[in-house]
Amino acid sequence: MPTHNPTTADTQPSKNQSEPGFNTRLVHPHADHDPYGAVNVPIYQSSTFAFRNAAHGAALFAGREGGYIYTRIGNPTIRALENTVAGLEGGCGGIATSSGLGAVAAVYMALLDAGTHMVSTASVYGPSRGLVEQHLARFGVQSSYVDTSDLARVQEAIRPNTRLVYVETPSNPAMQVTDLRAISEIAHQRGCVLVVDNTFATPYLQRPLELGADVVLHSITKFINGHADVVGGIIVTRTEELQRRIRPLMVNLGCNMDPHQAFLVLRGLKTLGLRIERAQQSAVQIAAWIEAHPKVEWVRYIGLPSHPQHELVRRQMRGFGSMISFELKGGLEAGVRLMDSVRLATLAVSLGGVETLIEHPASMTHAGMSRPDRLAAGITDGLVRYSVGIEDVEDLLADLEQALRNA
Ligand SMILES: *Cc1c(COP(=O)(O)O)cnc(C)c1O
Repeated sequence: MPTHNPTTADTQPSKNQSEPGFNTRLVHPHADHDPYGAVNVPIYQSSTFAFRNAAHGAALFAGREGGYIYTRIGNPTIRALENTVAGLEGGCGGIATSSGLGAVAAVYMALLDAGTHMVSTASVYGPSRGLVEQHLARFGVQSSYVDTSDLARVQEAIRPNTRLVYVETPSNPAMQVTDLRAISEIAHQRGCVLVVDNTFATPYLQRPLELGADVVLHSITKFINGHADVVGGIIVTRTEELQRRIRPLMVNLGCNMDPHQAFLVLRGLKTLGLRIERAQQSAVQIAAWIEAHPKVEWVRYIGLPSHPQHELVRRQMRGFGSMISFELKGGLEAGVRLMDSVRLATLAVSLGGVETLIEHPASMTHAGMSRPDRLAAGITDGLVRYSVGIEDVEDLLADLEQALRNA
């Protein structure tokens, strides 16, 4: 397995010998001491927090004293999740949000002004693009979408008023990989903040802040929670300054996480390493099997030597994850038949859960894009996205085999 690649030593989680390892930190969240010794972080299901007296309330509001005021602003259960994920990403603090899109919206609105411009990955998560093109554009925000794995295209797209470079890597669902160290140098030379959507990789496989990114965000809904029972998001910043710019925006936008959501995510997070290792082991096997199948035109899996950026992946990531995209020889029609024939894989959007999911981006997650934009982003009509779960790999292969017979 590729997960301990010596060339990625600088992306390994532990900064020094005494710092606990990644899986240890997953199991022992960064929480305040519990007076009863509770092993899990309790759910502080309270909208508001009592002040000891008027002076205490004033001190909390003035920021002279740490503590909690109101759950939209902060909450102990949510804070434990924020601190845990910030630690895993190597950032200075986390900002949990009601959804992944809430995290995207808070970052855009905090870092972009009217008349400024953003450069983004062309195959970025559909609504992350729609939010700018259909909504923020009305407030004077400009944006360009390029294949960020091609650094020359990024250089060309940056304008004097560009403030933000926004990258999704590996990208969804084309699985294009952007060189984070190189793009962070370009972004910083041109005075831009680099934001990375790390949903596909998670901090277990990739730590963008250590490669030069300024902000990392996640749809917690996917791998971090991993059980298809919570929608949520999180932002982690490299500096306190960025934390101070983004957190008030989240608070005023009102897209805070809920304490019960945070509790479930802390629970899901404990097995992040185990889940990724298991799903990845199956994905390596399934991708190779699909690639050899006579009905398959091509496969995109970052763990296959046939992936055009396989070497960059080995340098930048700790492993390959469990997202596979492939195109059938029969194009869209064959893809539809495949999706209607699978019995074990569930036909549903989303990804990164314990259950295997299959979907068709052109008619589902990326249906909002024009066909030329989709093709430019590498999303062909027949592309099928397959998110490998933790079922027995023999069962997944048998399911694909019978479904491909019908396709
Ligand atoms: C799902 C997803 C989002 C949006 O997250 P929600 O939790 O659905 O709001 C953003 N980016 C990526 C890469 C995603 O997969």
